[in-house]
Amino acid sequence: MSTSILVINCGSSSIKYALVSDRREDRIFGLAENLGSPEARIKGITVGGEALELSIPNADHEKALETILERLSHYNPQAIGHRVVHGGTLTKAELLTPEIVQRIREATPLAPLHNPAHLVGIDATMRLFPELPQVAVFDTAFHQTMPSHAYRYALPKFLYTQHNVRRYGFHGTSHAYVSDRGSELAGSFREGGWLTAHLGNGSSTCAIWNGQSVDTSMGLTPLEGVVMGTRSGDVDPSIHSFLATNLGWDIYKIDKMLNSQSGLLGLSDLSNDMRTLIEASEQGNEDATLAIEVFCYRLAKSLAGLSCGLPRIDGLFFTGGIGENSAYIREKTMSYLPHFGFNLSKEKNDELKRGTEGRIDAGVGPQIWVVPTDEEGRIAKETIHVVETEVHQTTGKKLKAQAMMA
Ligand code: AMP
Repeated sequence: MSTSILVINCGSSSIKYALVSDRREDRIFGLAENLGSPEARIKGITVGGEALELSIPNADHEKALETILERLSHYNPQAIGHRVVHGGTLTKAELLTPEIVQRIREATPLAPLHNPAHLVGIDATMRLFPELPQVAVFDTAFHQTMPSHAYRYALPKFLYTQHNVRRYGFHGTSHAYVSDRGSELAGSFREGGWLTAHLGNGSSTCAIWNGQSVDTSMGLTPLEGVVMGTRSGDVDPSIHSFLATNLGWDIYKIDKMLNSQSGLLGLSDLSNDMRTLIEASEQGNEDATLAIEVFCYRLAKSLAGLSCGLPRIDGLFFTGGIGENSAYIREKTMSYLPHFGFNLSKEKNDELKRGTEGRIDAGVGPQIWVVPTDEEGRIAKETIHVVETEVHQTTGKKLKAQAMMA
């Protein structure tokens, strides 16, 4: 492995990592989990596809990062790319400087669960590897091209001007990768109007015109939009006053319910996992059947709504764990979208192998594709771009990895 970028995604008690190199088959990736507890461990895949499991009792983020980097140091990573959920109004990936770290800190009220964990990881890697260029790649940045009529809420103006209350959108790295790759496969790279449906435990939709996000389903936080594993998606905001007045719930309880006990889990009263629900539905579980139906209907409704942001629709891309793997969910969703001339090929949809790219429309009307997402690859590519333009241009050096991601 000649050239590589280390991609890091720090959560509150976990760190996902990937060493992204010139060949996707060579990618090394893993997860450090249960950090801060006796059960802390690293699980991953090494080069050659072998499984790795390493116990690191009581390790914190810094210790886990040290262990990960020790194992990977002989691959000589040339830069580190950090996934950061909220970049506020930052419009692109940024080299980590004290000023950018401060901007990430300032966006914390908008992503209170995510940004503090990212900052812990950034702090640790900056101390451990001060010589390596480090870049923050934001989930929100891709959506900064949305026009104001898409990102503003119909709320008093001062909430926007003084408190940054607006729609930001998330999953930007995935929507950007999938729309670039999908439009390339369709022979019209970054041209035309496309809808993307990123369907995983968290789900969102996006409308993309000539390679730029023009609208998306998530808003101020990742709670707005379509039905997700445990998140409600759109509800009447009066639910807060209804529950407070009638059940005496406080804001924390309501927030927890909407984020962690709703969505597929809330509807089915069984699971947030789509595979489990499909199996239960096949066995006659009516709640699971309804949860799937609501998921697909609301998804189709979101896609139809986002079409208003596009002068024309050239096609739709499915991605994420559900979008890539479930022909059943894709078919059910498209059954609620007979508009715009969409025409799914049942045969092609059913035949598409897991994890592969492929076109699944019948050849008339807008195209429909499945495009497996690659958020790590995209983060690595953006990291290289930032390092090339902001570090090496000034020093005259060239990053070997530049060619690999071209
Ligand atoms: P992600 O968050 O992108 O990893 O996606 C996780 C979701 O994908 C979970 O709800 C899984 O049940 C779902 N998923 C993965 N494989 C399948 C499958 N073959 N059929 C239906 N859902 C799947």
